[in-house]
Amino acid sequence: MFILKSQATIEKAIERAKAVRPRVRVRTFGEYAVSGSAGNTYTVKCERRDGQKVVDCSCVAGQFGTPCFHAAAAVAQHIYMAQTIAH
Ligand SMILES: [Zn+2]
Repeated sequence: MFILKSQATIEKAIERAKAVRPRVRVRTFGEYAVSGSAGNTYTVKCERRDGQKVVDCSCVAGQFGTPCFHAAAAVAQHIYMAQTIAH
């Protein structure tokens, strides 16, 4: 789990996501299934906790608080959906 303070937090992860292009499936608004590089699937949750954007990924890196590319891919999808809902 890590706190998304700004885009810079996940900049490297975004670059990796662009290279790997993982598949993101929407389970519900705020919960996404993201394919890993070995064909496995991780669950990423995006939510607000005490006014902070918290991102949770079920992969090893995510559990140690490292922004991973699964999280970056899910965050991109989440922002897209949030904007779609808002408009
Ligand atoms: Zn991950």
